[in-house]
Amino acid sequence: MLTAAPTDVTLPEPELLRRFDVPGPRYTSYPTADRFVEAFDAAAHAQWLARRGQVPAAPLSLYVHIPFCNTVCYYCACNKVVTRDHGRAADYLQALAQEIALVCRHLTGVRRVEQLHLGGGTPSFLTIEQLQQLMALLAGHFELDAARGEFSIEVDPRSCGPQKVRALAQLGFNRISVGVQDFEPAVQRAVNRLQSFETTAATIDAARAAGFRSINLDLIYGLPGQSRATFARTLDRVLALAPERIALYHYAHLPERFKPQRRIDARLLPSPQEKMGIMRDAIVRLTAAGYHYIGMDHFAKASDDLARAQMTGRLHRNFQGYSTRPECDLLGLGVSAISKIGPTYAQNARELPEYYDRLKNGLLPTARGVQLDRDDLARRAVIMALMCHFRVSKEAIETAHLLNFDDYFARELAALQAFVEAGLVTVDAEWISVTAKGKLLVRAIAMVFDRYLQQDQRARRYSRII
Ligand code: SF4
Repeated sequence: MLTAAPTDVTLPEPELLRRFDVPGPRYTSYPTADRFVEAFDAAAHAQWLARRGQVPAAPLSLYVHIPFCNTVCYYCACNKVVTRDHGRAADYLQALAQEIALVCRHLTGVRRVEQLHLGGGTPSFLTIEQLQQLMALLAGHFELDAARGEFSIEVDPRSCGPQKVRALAQLGFNRISVGVQDFEPAVQRAVNRLQSFETTAATIDAARAAGFRSINLDLIYGLPGQSRATFARTLDRVLALAPERIALYHYAHLPERFKPQRRIDARLLPSPQEKMGIMRDAIVRLTAAGYHYIGMDHFAKASDDLARAQMTGRLHRNFQGYSTRPECDLLGLGVSAISKIGPTYAQNARELPEYYDRLKNGLLPTARGVQLDRDDLARRAVIMALMCHFRVSKEAIETAHLLNFDDYFARELAALQAFVEAGLVTVDAEWISVTAKGKLLVRAIAMVFDRYLQQDQRARRYSRII
């Protein structure tokens, strides 16, 4: 029902970008994580874990956060711990074991897992033995269905050579996301991420040979030392590797918020025009090479599950970005991980000392969260439909949330008029649809439906879209 034409994306005119490219959230959740409150605590999370068994049980999605990295990349805004001490990972695995045991004491209902994602940090920081230990731990508490599911892991080729890739395949992983960002040596030096093309190619070749179903490659534009010419060379090499998916992220330089970014020489950053040129070139090259624009920063080959899911209306959005799996409860494990259970989100302590402390005291490491009310649920449905499918069926929202769309969202429909007049959105009696020109600005369109932004206008805390 919610189909879209994925490749149908065009760049809005510079004037429209200036007007509508406002700072905004990425909507991997709604409400966004900065709206979570401490009043939603471990007891509330435990209650919802227990209630899960009362509803017909869908499979569970698992996310495990591995916070460690060998070295720091200066552009990084992730929650990570930079260390070379692998003993720290051993302590962390012990804490994870405690957390899993505690969670499973409360968790009722089916524990079949069809979706597993290891993110970070750098999950490939773990040795093969530590990865085996982690998977054994998960298998001891959950029914892991790798044959039918998506088991994915983020890797850094510098810590994930062919041997580790093969071990990952043996452990059941079938999707791999490879961090690259840029292949130019000067750019790599400027961000402290020296990674040769050969190292990356070896990881990707090994993943293909080991039978991984989908390979994703992460890129960033807007990094110091980049220009249209240098990024064209990076794209040549990316296209030669032919990953099934490509994520092209925008670098937001916010050194006052993210300490590692203070080591970036701001004089080397590309100008806004150059940056826009890099993005424009990349979209033209990738779509010409047969990649479909999925949304936000993501591209996928037509044959990839992500593109197919979008075409058949089965695309979803969660904390890992886009997903082909229907909405199911998500259990987040590890420091800073976020769970989505029933109509709630719960986030673990964001710093390791607090995470360890709570577990030592036999407590779930939940630090904050939120229970969605009816209004949140309706708005989340609208925002996720826009983010995943670039269109919203008013009737679908009315039926699922028992409201009259035009009345309930009268203020938002009025606010959308500016986007309609700019040719970014169309609105009729049945649908709100984002046009080809509006797709790159979908975040700004989704923001119209965000009640929290309406309330306090804190949008300036977010990074710009492009
Ligand atoms: S970008 Fe990835 S590898 Fe680099 S510091 Fe951040 S989390 Fe670690």
